[in-house]
Amino acid sequence: MILRMSTLFLRTLREDPVDAEVPSHKLLVRAGYVRRAAPGIYSWLPLGYTVLRNIENIVREEMNAIGAQEVHFPALLPREPYEASNRWEEYGDTIFRLKDRKGGDYLLGPTHEEMFTLLVKDLYSSYKDLPLSLYQIQTKYRDEARPRAGILRGREFVMKDSYSFDVSDEAFMHSYLAHRGAYIKIFDRLGLDYVIVKATSGAMGGSASEEFLVTAENGEDTYVRSPGGYAANVEAVTTPVPPPLSYEDTPAAHAEDTPDTPTIQTLVDHLNERFPRGDRPWQASDTLKNVLVVLHHPDGSREPLAIGVPGDREVDEKRLQAQVEPAAVEPFTEDDFAAHPALARGYIGPGVLGEKNASGIRYLVDPRVVEGTRWVTGADTPGKHVIDLVAGRDFTPDGTIEAAEVRAGDPAPDGSGPLETARGIEMGHIFQLGRKYSDALGLQVLDENGKLVTVTMGSYGVGVSRAVAAIVENSHDELGIIWPREVAPADVHLVATGKDDAVFEAAAGIAAELDAAGVRVMFDDRRGVSPGVKFKDSELIGVPTIVVVGRGLADGVVEIKDRATGEREEVAVGAVVDRLRAIVAE
Ligand code: ATP
Ligand code: MG
Repeated sequence: MILRMSTLFLRTLREDPVDAEVPSHKLLVRAGYVRRAAPGIYSWLPLGYTVLRNIENIVREEMNAIGAQEVHFPALLPREPYEASNRWEEYGDTIFRLKDRKGGDYLLGPTHEEMFTLLVKDLYSSYKDLPLSLYQIQTKYRDEARPRAGILRGREFVMKDSYSFDVSDEAFMHSYLAHRGAYIKIFDRLGLDYVIVKATSGAMGGSASEEFLVTAENGEDTYVRSPGGYAANVEAVTTPVPPPLSYEDTPAAHAEDTPDTPTIQTLVDHLNERFPRGDRPWQASDTLKNVLVVLHHPDGSREPLAIGVPGDREVDEKRLQAQVEPAAVEPFTEDDFAAHPALARGYIGPGVLGEKNASGIRYLVDPRVVEGTRWVTGADTPGKHVIDLVAGRDFTPDGTIEAAEVRAGDPAPDGSGPLETARGIEMGHIFQLGRKYSDALGLQVLDENGKLVTVTMGSYGVGVSRAVAAIVENSHDELGIIWPREVAPADVHLVATGKDDAVFEAAAGIAAELDAAGVRVMFDDRRGVSPGVKFKDSELIGVPTIVVVGRGLADGVVEIKDRATGEREEVAVGAVVDRLRAIVAE
């Protein structure tokens, strides 16, 4: 097929859209791939839809190759299955809920575990039917708190979601690894620069879980890696727990006046001035900072939570969020302080939070706060801190929580060296659901011995529409998009320049020959558009090979330009089709 620019439904824009911050958003709108319909909701124009389908096809081929079978569910779903799995509530504000004319509750599917589980339960009953992997490429709806970056985080988006069904955990591992292999092939074919990292399983439940992150400065995910090969989403990083310390020689805890020490730094300075240590100066990591938040549970209840972290670290909102899901983290308000008069703001310490628990607030600490560690922390009285407060001797928290920030240089949990941090875009997620959904919805089969067993499931997602934007984040320059050939809207962008009819006729001939040879051609056959505008458009649109038919035709040559490298070559008109076929086949 030849895409003729004279009739193609396309208007390229010279200006970046005002609401766009990241390159992919700017370029996809400017080059006429997508158009905003509402916040986080986009229409696909001909070029964008072509790229989207190219990506879908790659995903489809690789899913079929591992024996997964394509199905298609509705996006409009009944409440009951989501009620049974508890996700009607757990999803909170993130799902679009609606009512039909009879008052029945429905939702627009954010992901389809429940529906797949019920379908398999409907039709299958024996271990002989398994293993089974089903997938769909479908439009999902999530009322994201912060839709951003165009189609990178939309409220309507296209996802490939698959689900595996196995009779045992061992059998499940085969399905998991098959998906993992397929994902590697998919992301290689998409030309993405990506890493596979350990992940938390979030609202999905289950244990084994890995994410495929596209390395990108504009990514919302932070991940870490070590020289020894450890790689994890920052949310999934566990802190190596130090061994307990002996505290025989640690003096008894003593409260001291620490006026005018509103920050950790002022406190440390004050300590060094008034209470110098014998061995070394006090530092921020000697202090224990207690942070209060409120957990908003899916059932609507609010639970205050205190988190103790070493004073040199902040609480990382995303790490905390991942730990407390499905609850949402909210600020501790004035009203909450009023309801807990035992809390001395700015001087909150384990005295009210720990053992004696005068506040009634659950108190979780960083895993570094092991027995025998010695802290300076709030004395629960304005203007006072306690020194030499020993964990396990003077206070006992209710447990630990992985909520402190992870920093470059921190040791990897598996001892494989210091961590470095980088940013990425989550493109895919594979995880073990275990029996969460099969238990909730009663998906059981008879095993070899005629015994009923609950099916082990996995769930696997690829952000198909997000991939369009992620590829652009990975592959663009100041002039525009540079598509990898397999996803590009065409193989060759053929530009006819000037006013000469002979040029347009020759170009049309080349386009027809290429088309006949199976090369996908975009043909800029527009009359009365300047060469400068045509060249700019070709660079913006990003087809990998650009061919210019213009003045050189008088000498029997046309120019071929590689969009990615900028390299140009002159080729005799008679040889151009063969040359292009060779380039496309490379
Ligand atoms: P994120 O952390 O980015 O919100 P998620 O963990 O909610 O992602 P999953 O529920 O695992 O995502 O969905 C599977 C895939 O769908 C993700 O890996 C991602 O590529 C894609 N995806 C998720 N949310 C969106 C969205 N709002 N817009 C576009 N793609 C999305
Ligand atoms: Mg999400």
